[in-house]
Amino acid sequence: MFSYRHAFHAGSHADILKHLTLIHLVDYLQEKPGALTIVDTHAGAGIYSLKDGFAAVSKEAEGGIFRLLAYAKSNTLPESIQKYLECIQTENSSDAIDTYPGSPFILARLLRPQDRLKLFELHPKEIDILRHNIGELKQSKQIDIYAEDSFSRLKGLLPPPSRRGLVLIDPSYEDKQDYRHLETAIEEALQRFATGCYAIWYPILSRRESAALPDRMKKIAATHQRSWLHAELRVENAPGERRLQTSGMLIINPPWTLEKHLADALPTLTRVLGIGNGAQFLLKAFEA
Ligand code: SAM
Repeated sequence: MFSYRHAFHAGSHADILKHLTLIHLVDYLQEKPGALTIVDTHAGAGIYSLKDGFAAVSKEAEGGIFRLLAYAKSNTLPESIQKYLECIQTENSSDAIDTYPGSPFILARLLRPQDRLKLFELHPKEIDILRHNIGELKQSKQIDIYAEDSFSRLKGLLPPPSRRGLVLIDPSYEDKQDYRHLETAIEEALQRFATGCYAIWYPILSRRESAALPDRMKKIAATHQRSWLHAELRVENAPGERRLQTSGMLIINPPWTLEKHLADALPTLTRVLGIGNGAQFLLKAFEA
């Protein structure tokens, strides 16, 4: 426990899929003027340097955001990807990207005055960095930070007062129990707030629990008669490769616009970020 630091993975292909999806969810939910409450159950440090520290060691951004930016210099991107890149660019003063915003910064920048953001982080070092980073933002008064276990605390925040809510669940899965805790948290959340939008990120790892996760989530959604959307991005086909090759998003109560948004983005992401013939994407949606 607590060996995971998101800085190692900042700007990776998995971050791109997750954050591109997240930005669209917020965009859609903000089409109505009512206040939106966003919960980020696993926040991390908030924002990361790509030129030094852990990210410079892992170089995961080279196969992610840097590769996408290099492609964008001489190619036209689908609007869905363009919007994501604009959000990343906002944190950087020049064309060169040396800072990558994590979900807390991406979400904070998108807040309207009526919206609220709730961030959970358990890591003793990450929570201090997160508090410092968020304190620098003009939106900080709209943001609450909890140094608590989000799996057990999520239900206490639901339903939000305005009954308009988005929950990003992005665990590190370093503890095998995360899979069980995730299921319980989603069950409890849907019981209290069935119409909320829940976006769950997951990696495809060699663990049995990892491969079973999307179907487990779909089953819970079906029990509550909820719609879902399932997207995966696989970038490599190298069995010996230690880096993460495939990640996915499972969204419960997705907006009707999300499938088209991802159908526009995923072929380009697969082509640009993929290595070899194994690169592929999956996109499936089910309407309850
Ligand atoms: N959402 C972030 C982003 O997209 O930029 C990345 C988050 S990272 C994948 C997961 C984080 O969750 C880690 O910083 C870890 O310390 C934290 N964490 C792990 N278990 C937790 C729990 N039960 N409650 C809250 N935070 C937790």
